[in-house]
Amino acid sequence: MTKTAVIYSPIYLKHDPGPTHPESPKRLEIMINELKKSRFLEKEDCKLLEPREANETELQLVHKADYIELVKKICLKGGGILDLGDTVASAESFKVAKYAAGGALKAVEQVLEGKFKNAFTLVRPPGHHAGSYYPCGFCIFNNIAIAAQHLIQNLGLEKVLILDIDAHHGNGTQEIFYNTNKVFYISLHQDPRGFPGTGFPDEIGEGKGLGFTLNVPFPFRTSDEIYLEAFNSIVVPVIEQYAPQFILVSTGFDCHYTDPVASLCLSANAYSVIFEKIVKLADKYCGGKLVAVLEGGYSFSFIGKLAALAVSKMASFEYLIDDQVPERYVGNEIVKKNAEKILKEVKNYHSSFWNLD
Ligand SMILES: [Zn+2]
Repeated sequence: MTKTAVIYSPIYLKHDPGPTHPESPKRLEIMINELKKSRFLEKEDCKLLEPREANETELQLVHKADYIELVKKICLKGGGILDLGDTVASAESFKVAKYAAGGALKAVEQVLEGKFKNAFTLVRPPGHHAGSYYPCGFCIFNNIAIAAQHLIQNLGLEKVLILDIDAHHGNGTQEIFYNTNKVFYISLHQDPRGFPGTGFPDEIGEGKGLGFTLNVPFPFRTSDEIYLEAFNSIVVPVIEQYAPQFILVSTGFDCHYTDPVASLCLSANAYSVIFEKIVKLADKYCGGKLVAVLEGGYSFSFIGKLAALAVSKMASFEYLIDDQVPERYVGNEIVKKNAEKILKEVKNYHSSFWNLD
């Protein structure tokens, strides 16, 4: 078994939201170039794989047929704005978005079949804001939700974890799985009051899904220390108790302090710790089965290195980044105090479902 698959195709560069849009094709070029520079893809334990195209039945695992039809029509006419402003499609976006969903599908299939231990899918457009019938926040189809639903509905799994470490709350993913305990959605993100308006501690799921949605919203400028405290004291113990059969990670690199879109303050070291912990959890509970699906991350100076760092942890390669958060970015004591309060609140909301000291 090869350890790690990196799923990528130049087709992902053909989704073009416009020259000033932060979700630019350049993001993926930077990431794949850094991976080539690192020479990871030449090693025995890491392989570059082409994605496949998701078909419309597969998109319908999560999305309404008339929404899929609408995206198709807009793209056939040459593209346009899909929502109230920041989600844009170009002529090729429908096809590219089907390949983005197909990249995530191929990743979970390859890992479940035992061909790879884990996989990192370098896809765009991203997915976690897209709901069953709407686009949102640069996202057209919800790639990770489609992959999770594929695992449940078509491949027979019953406990899939989606851990969302993008700086923004994955409103679409949460909504899609709000009523089920077969997919546990855990998200750590920045204060969601401005966008997307969901992701507060009291959103804990409904019906059978009660207790299977967990949100940790951090104040702006939250840095490594508090973020990792939340990870260690809430996220890890809850995952251990859930004992997932498969771990999916909505991977956004926009928590980094240099990110021009989001307002958190993590260093590369936090990403390193997070990925180490995720790989360990996957090893312990699901035979290593782990798929990371790219979401956001817009800092041209760091996204390449952070992607290589994530792959290095998944494939057990050495990769070092020299990165220290400059003092001026770090939040003050008030940020820390507010964050501590939020962690307490999250624990309170979840203490009847999970053992959290
Ligand atoms: Zn984001």
